[in-house]
Amino acid sequence: MAFVSALKCRECGREYPIEPSYTCSWCFGPLEVAYDYDAIRAATSRERIAHGPANIWRYADLLPSDHHPDIDLGAGFTPLVRAERLAAELGLGEVWVKNDTLNPTNSFKDRVVNVALAKALEFGFEVAACASTGNLANSVAAHAARAGLQSYVFVPANLEAGKIVTTAVYGGNLVAVDGNYDDVNRLCAELAGTYPWAFVNVNVRPYYAEGSKTLAFETAEQLGWTTPDHVVVPIASGSQLTKIHKGFHELHRVGLLDEAPEVRVSGAQALGCSPVASAFLEGRDVIKPVKPDTIAKSLAIGNPADGYFAIDAVRSTGGGMAAVTDDEIVEGIRLLARTEGIFAETAGGVTIATLQRLAASGVIRPDERVVVYITGHGLKTLDAVAEVVGPTATIRPTIEAFHDAFPALQESTR
Ligand SMILES: *Cc1c(COP(=O)(O)O)cnc(C)c1O
Ligand SMILES: [Zn+2]
Repeated sequence: MAFVSALKCRECGREYPIEPSYTCSWCFGPLEVAYDYDAIRAATSRERIAHGPANIWRYADLLPSDHHPDIDLGAGFTPLVRAERLAAELGLGEVWVKNDTLNPTNSFKDRVVNVALAKALEFGFEVAACASTGNLANSVAAHAARAGLQSYVFVPANLEAGKIVTTAVYGGNLVAVDGNYDDVNRLCAELAGTYPWAFVNVNVRPYYAEGSKTLAFETAEQLGWTTPDHVVVPIASGSQLTKIHKGFHELHRVGLLDEAPEVRVSGAQALGCSPVASAFLEGRDVIKPVKPDTIAKSLAIGNPADGYFAIDAVRSTGGGMAAVTDDEIVEGIRLLARTEGIFAETAGGVTIATLQRLAASGVIRPDERVVVYITGHGLKTLDAVAEVVGPTATIRPTIEAFHDAFPALQESTR
């Protein structure tokens, strides 16, 4: 049994029963899952977690649904790797990369989808749906296939081919909408009022959002039940960043961390869609919606639902934000690949470029232990780098041809 006590309004604090709903009927604020932390504290322990499965369900005590193996593709418990070469290039000290490209559908979205659809099964839904910038559609289609659920996933029609194909292959309904993500999201909010479906990021969003906390839980466990000094997190709706921050504090609250965490949280956005970073950098609380125009399509939400909460988490912990250009994104992808052997999608390029900017400006310091969240795989956004990387030489199949090319190759590898 999950230790969930209620849904609670993040604005006015009113409580509601555990149902598929997401807004406060009193003030229209967003609802969040509330837990009985004393009961969790009594039940959970580091040993209990260590004996759990090597996926997000090892932290089931702190999640809003029970483990349903029939929908589980094995999301989570991805590697946390020390990135010494990357750190050296950026003049930093201890840097770690949380490699969430290695999830079942190659993005962090498998965490949130697994939790949301486990809850949807408990509620008795038979159809899974979502409004997506790409990775969510991919993950919902795969998990629905695994569980034998029907699926309807809605995406902007201009999505990368790598995300259309990796979603459509699972055989559900993929609806390409002639508009941007914010149009798709508005449409899905309307559909959720009409069709009895579990829209993972609409009517079951409070449960979905909790899945992101597992990134903080794993990070702390993989660092021997300690916390980083600084984390860098990409922002689309701002949910992931907000929940990583919440996750570290929950661990302390239920006795899994000895000391209260002091984790500085920094946020990463693309300049072509930076409503949250712009508000933060200009000292505003109010987010001005924008029309996205960036290669980082998975982060292209112009009117982010959790933007304000993300700003609050960054400001209250003394973190920073950056809005990086498409060129910096491409260089970020190449830098991570070249130094650590990890190929990230454009969102990862945004995160690495932000790490670079914040290191250069002194917001991230060499004496800090830093964790960066790399949330999606580069094979899904090949076009972003296809024009700037390629063979270092093209030769005829003879040893002489290779001898001739060799000096230039040596030159280019330094
Ligand atoms: C969805 C997504 C995020 C973050 O999304 P939030 O809406 O801010 O939680 C980050 N990276 C990738 C690759 C994504 O697909
Ligand atoms: Zn309210």
